Amino acid sequence: MQRAWIVAALAAGTTLFAQTPIEKLGPQGREMWLVPVDAPGFDKLKPTQRKLAYYLYRAALAGDEIAYLQNHPKALDIKNLLEGVWSRKDALDEATRASVGEYLKLVWANHGNYSHTHATKFVPADLTNDQLKKAVQTATKKGAKFSFKGGALTMLARLKPYIFDPKVDPIQVNQVPGQDPIATSANGLYDKGLTLKDIQALPQSAQEQLNVRFAKKGRKALAQTFKVGGVYGAQLDTVVYWLQKALPYVEDQIGKTTMPDGTVKTRFEANPDQKEALEDLIAFFKTGDEATFKKHSIAWLKTRSTIDYLNGFYEVYKDPRSVIGAYEANVSYKSDSAVIDKLSQSAAYFETKMPWDAKWQRSQITPPVASIVNVLMETGDGGPISPAAYNLPNYADLRKDYGSKNVVLLNVEGASSAATKEASIQASYRPEDQDLIRKFGDLGRQWEVYMHEVIGHGSGQADASLNGVDPSAKIGPTFSALEECRADAVALYQFPDAKLEEIGAVSAADHQDAYKAMLLQYLTRELMANGLVEGDTIHEAHFRGRQLILTYLLDNQKGVQVDEVDGHHFVEITDLAKAREGVGEVLNKLQTIKAMGDQAGAEAFFGQYGTKVNKAWHDDAKARLEALNLPKEKAFVFPKLVPVVEDMNGRQILKDVKAETGESFEDQMLRVESWGRSRELDPDAVATKKN
Ligand SMILES: [Zn+2]
Repeated sequence: MQRAWIVAALAAGTTLFAQTPIEKLGPQGREMWLVPVDAPGFDKLKPTQRKLAYYLYRAALAGDEIAYLQNHPKALDIKNLLEGVWSRKDALDEATRASVGEYLKLVWANHGNYSHTHATKFVPADLTNDQLKKAVQTATKKGAKFSFKGGALTMLARLKPYIFDPKVDPIQVNQVPGQDPIATSANGLYDKGLTLKDIQALPQSAQEQLNVRFAKKGRKALAQTFKVGGVYGAQLDTVVYWLQKALPYVEDQIGKTTMPDGTVKTRFEANPDQKEALEDLIAFFKTGDEATFKKHSIAWLKTRSTIDYLNGFYEVYKDPRSVIGAYEANVSYKSDSAVIDKLSQSAAYFETKMPWDAKWQRSQITPPVASIVNVLMETGDGGPISPAAYNLPNYADLRKDYGSKNVVLLNVEGASSAATKEASIQASYRPEDQDLIRKFGDLGRQWEVYMHEVIGHGSGQADASLNGVDPSAKIGPTFSALEECRADAVALYQFPDAKLEEIGAVSAADHQDAYKAMLLQYLTRELMANGLVEGDTIHEAHFRGRQLILTYLLDNQKGVQVDEVDGHHFVEITDLAKAREGVGEVLNKLQTIKAMGDQAGAEAFFGQYGTKVNKAWHDDAKARLEALNLPKEKAFVFPKLVPVVEDMNGRQILKDVKAETGESFEDQMLRVESWGRSRELDPDAVATKKN
């Protein structure tokens, strides 16, 4: 529930990214950009760290398919059908090849045919069923292998409405208050025919479990666990295989041993937290026991290391009840985390400055572990469409007792925006505000992300009257939006504090201007984001949160207005202090709702300010974005990790690992598919040998 989305680059990031040209998809290249990402400094790591990274990388690839299975019951079939056709793409006519290729790339990026960000269905832009049918026939004739019972044409006939009819299963995650979230959402987590009532009829423990899906057995819902030998068993078995390979490469640290005579000796030892985290994770995938995943999360949280990873079921956006975790994995290595450390060490200070009742301020603060990393790969729910940062674990009790880890993805954030920056400034801001954004926009965005993650999500505590019950369980579907909005509001409220100067974030002379830029940029981004939403309802949690803040400030005249110039809408901040006061009101209200577990309050607040698309902004922003040819979405092409394998007496040994850039998105995704299933150290070498 804790992600920041990429919009602008970090100032430092602009020189980091690869120079490979950006591939653009969709009409006017606007649907999605495929942006290459570099791995600066990977070659400076120790060979053992690179090997650890490689095994974790393979584990991440191995689980990727799970995201398709979770996203929609037909998503993996659609992908496999298209990949079969694509394996004989040279036999297709040019128009069909272009249409199939474009649709397949979008399916890869989104792990199915629903927008990863907006949870709404997309259909092929100009591919027809007849064209696809012909393509399947051509590919089959040329020897393409499809592993469908009854053949590829039968499968296509079955998939036709899911691929081509926008009215079939239109919404993946529906959380509009008053509608049954289970019956009206189309995803792979609930069998068709189930309703919210069916889930609520189950024991509380089943309702709250992270790693289950629900099947329909007769008239009842049946929880099925994600584990080796269970749901997603084949994928998880391969994940476990690679995690076990990673274990011997746990990083070294200096350990201390007290000798019998009382003297203390130092020596290198395997990082015990990293080791335990991996062992627990393996045990969790084998057993499906969520308590083991929590144990893993604690060890993962405590780990201080250069190489880090995610692998498991984390964010709950894809579940209309906001409970079940989506599969996500990555592998990363540390970049310079000095500034984030300083912010993290000030978490207790900021807690005392929150604009809410003192009884909801946490007295004991475990400073969050914050780090800036470069990612080598993200799969499943985490990539190739990537968040800019994440804050985990999501378990409220663990966060309370052990804190949380805040990870900012430097290379991804940096690569994301340089190409689009100047054009979007000119289109989105009043001329008199543009220089301010040019000067402070990157800084504002950077600190918005940092503060959201480091002091936002971890802040505050529930009211004593909840007796330890997690507010998310009481608030229900609106909780994700509430929590994202709360973390944003913390950043927007706390940035003007003089502490930021002490930390070295901004000079005293620039502070006011930087704050104005941060707020103006935040609000403008949301106004423009209205142009990206299809339909009249905002479904995605972060967008709902931003819309709430923007609309609240406007409707209550909190120093912010929207000017209309030549039919275009621009945010203007007329009174910065008053705007901050308004953000403080929002923040207080959100914390009050969270602390009290006030479901009705959450739904009313978001119903009023954070659900409806503003039609006038939508039409205008859509037109402006179209004129700009900016992408609606970005997906990333990560560095390719190439194993250096040596033969030792007939055994394949991993000697080292190189990171290469310049791979195409298509090759990356085909590799995710082929390497994801393989247990060879170098699947490419094996494939070459066989040919
Ligand atoms: Zn967040």
